[in-house]
Amino acid sequence: MAFLVWAVIVGGTLFVIWYGYGLLVGKPGVGSEEGDGPTASCHLCRRPFPVNRMVSRDKIAGFVNYFCGDCIEALYQEYTTRFRDGSMPSSDVLGTRIGRN
Ligand SMILES: [Zn+2]
Repeated sequence: MAFLVWAVIVGGTLFVIWYGYGLLVGKPGVGSEEGDGPTASCHLCRRPFPVNRMVSRDKIAGFVNYFCGDCIEALYQEYTTRFRDGSMPSSDVLGTRIGRN
């Protein structure tokens, strides 16, 4: 009986560590929706998307960051606005893009 209790405690601890690590790095497969294959959270807006609809970049530590199209478009808009005007764009440029569904 003691062995069973230990197995549940150790198994539960390992699951919590694995799941927390997946949430932390936005690893594909965590929080995945059925149908479109593995999903990952966008590194900027944290919304889940299928991995094949996102752009990924490896980090030095071995983590992979995923970026959704809306965030990439928002970054592009902010960059071009800043470049064209020579000033910081208003904060709603990024906020409205990220907030829309
Ligand atoms: Zn995003």
